[in-house]
Amino acid sequence: MKIIHERKKCIGCGSCAAVCPKYWEMAEDGKATLIGSVINSKEVYELEIKKLDCNQEAADSCPINIIKVKNVKDKS
Ligand code: SF4
Repeated sequence: MKIIHERKKCIGCGSCAAVCPKYWEMAEDGKATLIGSVINSKEVYELEIKKLDCNQEAADSCPINIIKVKNVKDKS
């Protein structure tokens, strides 16, 4: 599965980092960063993960819903 973060829309509320510090941290520019994520051609950050972990809580806690969990079908 993939976690998607529309970082440019982030308002820096800190909720995601509070509920899921393993994956989320607040950066110097005041926005949240999904640790280890890479930016794609649509300027959205993505991170492939095997286990959802606390990212559902992070997504649920975001007041502007810019954290999304995407289920990518297992090819095997
Ligand atoms: S919860 Fe959403 S708006 Fe708040 S810091 Fe995290 S990504 Fe940004």
